[in-house]
Amino acid sequence: MGDNLKEECGICGIYLKNPIKNSELISYNLDLMLNRMQRRGQTGSGISIFKIREGKYGKVLKTLKKPGLVSNLFGGENLDLRKKIIKENNGIAGIGHVRYGTSGNRGNTLDLLQPFLRRHGKKWKKFSICFNGNLANYPELEEELRKRDYDLETDVDTEVIMHLFSLGIKKFSDENNEVKPDFFDLSNFVMQQIDGAFNILLLFGDGNLIAIRDSYGFKPLVWGENQDFYAIASESVALERIGIRDIQVVPPGSVIIFNANGVFLKQLFFNQKKAFCQFEAIYFSDSGSLFEGKSIYEIRRNLGKELAKAEPLKEFIKKNKKNYVVVPVPETSNAAAEGFAEILGLSFRPLGLRKLDKTRGFINEYEKREDIMNRIYDVIKEIFQDKEVFLIEDSIIRGETLGKTINLIKNTNPKAIHVRVTEPKVCHPCFYGVDMSTYGEFIANVCDSLNLEEEIAKKIGADTFFYQKFEGLINSLGFDKNEICHACLTGDYPTEFGKKRAEEALKKFKDQKI
Ligand code: SF4
Repeated sequence: MGDNLKEECGICGIYLKNPIKNSELISYNLDLMLNRMQRRGQTGSGISIFKIREGKYGKVLKTLKKPGLVSNLFGGENLDLRKKIIKENNGIAGIGHVRYGTSGNRGNTLDLLQPFLRRHGKKWKKFSICFNGNLANYPELEEELRKRDYDLETDVDTEVIMHLFSLGIKKFSDENNEVKPDFFDLSNFVMQQIDGAFNILLLFGDGNLIAIRDSYGFKPLVWGENQDFYAIASESVALERIGIRDIQVVPPGSVIIFNANGVFLKQLFFNQKKAFCQFEAIYFSDSGSLFEGKSIYEIRRNLGKELAKAEPLKEFIKKNKKNYVVVPVPETSNAAAEGFAEILGLSFRPLGLRKLDKTRGFINEYEKREDIMNRIYDVIKEIFQDKEVFLIEDSIIRGETLGKTINLIKNTNPKAIHVRVTEPKVCHPCFYGVDMSTYGEFIANVCDSLNLEEEIAKKIGADTFFYQKFEGLINSLGFDKNEICHACLTGDYPTEFGKKRAEEALKKFKDQKI
């Protein structure tokens, strides 16, 4: 994705199997997992640790948050400081979060970074919470809380979810505050009120760690165990990073409790329809991760193969294959380009475009974006010179960066540039956690729809341009179309409030062109 699309967030949690004493394993492994998911959010990161209190006073839930990369949270380059931070943040359970704000305030001040702490005098009413997703009914829930005189300190949906849990704790505790609520009842109470994509982790002051996945399964959530601990994370690569090999998908609609007695999983909601976000497979997740148990690397290769099968220039290519090279726009398109080249028997050149700056353009605020785009890629001219280039891109949203990339390549005198996109046309906003919320921001909506692909080619400076067909996507994913979310491609929103938000956005586009 050369475009300016934002990542979502990433979450992870860990629970010691023999929680007799605080251990450095907790923050050490949270650091490893968060680092492995850094690409999901670079605005800031945070952890909350549950620890056995060593003296009379002190915190049972300790929270640490820092703007920027995960390394900032753990001492940066200073290894002694890192050791000290890990030592000081020992415990028996923990949760962690990397943030990219896709709703509300996108800043990185500490009050916006997660986990959020809900304070209370009683240990089992005190909790830390972190969240990955987006609530489609956030405006309605916010209004409802305000009517009840709630003092909302941020416009982050995690805060709203936190208040709903607090209301649930009140509802399910007895009058004398002596009986703890059943965590499945409590989760059910909150899940019924929220519409959208949500993976939630809660760490209570009495040591219970709760994980919740929405009933459509929009965002990935996996868990596993080894001899020392249980762990849960947005992506399987994070679990593998800490030595967990047997990885389980958390079934959509499920709640998992990790505590001193073990692990307890219950599926509370059984939706016929699922809505696994297809963007995770195409772009967001790491190539080494799993998409609902399937290899993302293989899915991406399949996407390239499907593109190749539908390639309009197939007959021309056959005449002189040596004229052509296949170059991915790094890095998420690499596997697709490999599959594309393999089927057409063309030369695959992954080093044609090299990513120089790991600071990804879309992560930054607009003022900095122009500079960053110009220094993201370096081009090896020998690969392109006098060649017809198939440039494989994973998706195109606004098209700004792809146009700039093509300009860079043109300096090397290729014969032609043919852009192929592994994702079908994206032309509807997302209200489930990806930062594209208006109709006016899509290149597909601002170009003439009658000759769309031709128009886009002209706009970005390519000789030809083609999208993946919808069937090609479905074949590559290996799921039925009722099991994936394709709202941003088709306008078919799986939830009531997703539909409502889309109608509002469409009206704005028609009235004001935004
Ligand atoms: S609308 Fe698109 S980006 Fe959003 S969850 Fe659905 S598939 Fe993913």
